[in-house]
Amino acid sequence: MSARYNGLGVSPGTAVGPVARVHGPTLPARDDVPVDVDTESARAAESLDAVADELEALADRAGASGAVLVRQARMTRDPSLVALVTQYVRTGRAAPRAAWEGFGAYRDMRESDPLRGAPDAAELDDVRDRVVARLLGEPPPGIPDPGAPYVLVARDLSPALTASLDASRVLALVTERGGPTSHTAVLAKALGIPAVVGCPGVASLATGQTVAVDGSAGVVTADPDRELVGAMTRRPASPDREATGPGRTQDGRPVPLLAAVGGKGEVEDALAAGAEGVGVFRTEFCFLERTEPPTVAEQAAAYREVFDAFAGRPVTVRTLDVGADKPVSFVRLGEQANPALGVRGLRVARRHPQLLADQLAAIARATRESNADVRVMAPMVATTAEAAWFATRAHEAGVQTTGVMVEVPAAALRAADLLQVVDFVSIGCNDLQQYTFATDREDGELADLLDPWQPAFLDLVATVLRAGAVAGRAVTVCGEAASDPLLAAVLVGLGAAGLSMSPRSIPVVRAGLARVTSQQCAEAAAAAVFAEGPEEGRARVADLLSA
Ligand code: PEP
Ligand code: MG
Repeated sequence: MSARYNGLGVSPGTAVGPVARVHGPTLPARDDVPVDVDTESARAAESLDAVADELEALADRAGASGAVLVRQARMTRDPSLVALVTQYVRTGRAAPRAAWEGFGAYRDMRESDPLRGAPDAAELDDVRDRVVARLLGEPPPGIPDPGAPYVLVARDLSPALTASLDASRVLALVTERGGPTSHTAVLAKALGIPAVVGCPGVASLATGQTVAVDGSAGVVTADPDRELVGAMTRRPASPDREATGPGRTQDGRPVPLLAAVGGKGEVEDALAAGAEGVGVFRTEFCFLERTEPPTVAEQAAAYREVFDAFAGRPVTVRTLDVGADKPVSFVRLGEQANPALGVRGLRVARRHPQLLADQLAAIARATRESNADVRVMAPMVATTAEAAWFATRAHEAGVQTTGVMVEVPAAALRAADLLQVVDFVSIGCNDLQQYTFATDREDGELADLLDPWQPAFLDLVATVLRAGAVAGRAVTVCGEAASDPLLAAVLVGLGAAGLSMSPRSIPVVRAGLARVTSQQCAEAAAAAVFAEGPEEGRARVADLLSA
């Protein structure tokens, strides 16, 4: 009997294959059976010890880049951690549950330790999962390698884990958590892997069980029948290739179609899709696996790989957007109650000004050595003062053209002021939606609030585009919103001067725009903005543009 799971289809295409699972935090049950305290204490201690040995061995192999592993090993051997875990065994917990709770207590203890401070949450959780998995007799957490292509199923995927995927092995991605603009979604689309996120219940799928994944409809079917397998054997959505050349409407209005890239890995796809430049170069993705900050020379080399590929074309580089949904090991931000509302993006430079200075120096160097038309923008800017501060730092480093992303409603409302202190602004729809609707972009349960057809969101986009028109500056729209061809027409109608999206979405958006006139785009924009809700806007625009 097939079982269906419904989630959000975030990367089109279909696939059928066996489940392989990322082992995430599985909460061991609280046993009510009495435990043998001595045996369980010894098991817990042995497991902590073995995991510390394992981490040290991994660190030795990793050499200079093994700093995180060394730190994790040290944490695992911390006598207060061992004592806390043992304490939980004494209160009647079996070793796996005691370890789970002991790690929680250890985190609390470290948070109130003024000398040592809180450990990095992801590092601590990883150690906990290793210890608990060992005690449960499960393999350690991480991306599995079953030896044949598989559908990767996880509760959630960190950007680092997602970035280390081997696209040739992964038939599809399915996660229980995650929203439409989560990084699992963005990366799956970039890699061309069908994906369904925010899909409750999939964590109970068994390893090896056959599933059919429809990344467009957002449906996962366990044990599909032969008919469904026949219909769904991997078939990536075929982009519409009837239009070629630069993006433009039917009546010839140019709409540059730009690629969102996270490093040289996506350059090939971007060029193949005919990207006219790079709309957002997410530089943090070049260094996700680093445990120490990359040097200026290393950064300059990584940036040149993208700049050189787009010689003579615009490349908008974004300075590091770390924190919240994009944690990196080399920037330690400690525990934050509300990371998306905390220190992330440009705010990180308040704590680590040298990080920004080095990055700007690297970008300036790579720009001098290449022929791309490089512009530099900062993420997560809320005020004009922050934008001015960034522009000054960038100019000091030798950067010529500076801008900021408009991702926070405060910045959208004051876009006209921002344009007084920077050369350009670019709308970051993914975060602008999250902050406009006070809705975590990683939360699939609230996906309806993250619908880019929400009129309130489109109002803010229109405000920014109007400010650009008044100031005589071209404003580009970035984020996943532009990869919907109907919404792309709306954005053009609102005044977007360029659209940035996952490379694989470019052909279909190009074809969509080639079928509509500027007048139709303007009518579509009015229909979407004045609609009562996203469904009405979408339906009215579909009607208008199919006429
Ligand atoms: C955005 O927020 O729209 C954006 C382009 O940035 P990211 O998705 O990397 O946060
Ligand atoms: Mg963003």
